[in-house]
Amino acid sequence: MMPADYHMHTPLCRHASGEPTEYAAHAVRLGLTEIGFSDHSPMPEDDFDDWRMRDSQLAEYVAKVELARKDHPQLGIRLALEVDFLPDRVEWIRQLASRHPWDYLIGAVHYVSGGWDIDSPFKRELWERCDVDAVWAEYFNRLTLAARSGLFDIIGHADLPKKFGHLPKRDITPLVETFLEACKTTDTAIELNTAGLRKDCREIYPSRAILELACAKGVAITFGSDAHAPTEVGVDFAQAIRLAKESGFTRTRQFVGRSKRDLVL
Ligand code: ZN
Ligand code: FE
Ligand code: FE
Ligand code: ZN
Repeated sequence: MMPADYHMHTPLCRHASGEPTEYAAHAVRLGLTEIGFSDHSPMPEDDFDDWRMRDSQLAEYVAKVELARKDHPQLGIRLALEVDFLPDRVEWIRQLASRHPWDYLIGAVHYVSGGWDIDSPFKRELWERCDVDAVWAEYFNRLTLAARSGLFDIIGHADLPKKFGHLPKRDITPLVETFLEACKTTDTAIELNTAGLRKDCREIYPSRAILELACAKGVAITFGSDAHAPTEVGVDFAQAIRLAKESGFTRTRQFVGRSKRDLVL
């Protein structure tokens, strides 16, 4: 079975192209039976950064996804968000969760401080001036808080700091173990995100080592292309499925209305 593509964006985030109905049409062409939109969630301040929808656009986002559903009745289309986890935004996230009947929420850490989104191509010079191991440690601290919060169904791209090739010098296994324990406790899944293959790191998020640890702990998985254009839907899924199976996984998780089922991969 081809797993669902649960990580796709829309132009409302200001750095993606193509309407949701075009992503859906591409998914149908590929033979996918299920997809989910998970665009970057709004922040209470519309000028928080420039890569997410504005708060007033949330209803428009839902309407775009509903149009894709209407145009492609043969395809299961889930409505979700990729929500930035910041430790001081927990109340905001709870409020977002209550505003629409989401099928799932992806929790993502991009910010390791109030002002540094580590995957930003415009802030790469910050990587040259930082303690790389300290960034990895803070990233996993935040990821663990996100998993432990129980606010999310899936944790996105769980080793994002590798994006530009800044690998840790210290062994991160203890940080990863703590994070995965939190996932297990709250039964939060992690995703295999193929966008890493299109970045400098040239590797699926997260690494095979993390996936093997996750499988050993009994953490569930989903799949996502992190498509920012219709032609990126389902990209490199064959490779992701192979990696999942080689890491020991036999199932993929499905979400409808925030309830879950584990399907045979
Ligand atoms: Zn994006
Ligand atoms: Fe992300
Ligand atoms: Fe994304
Ligand atoms: Zn993402």
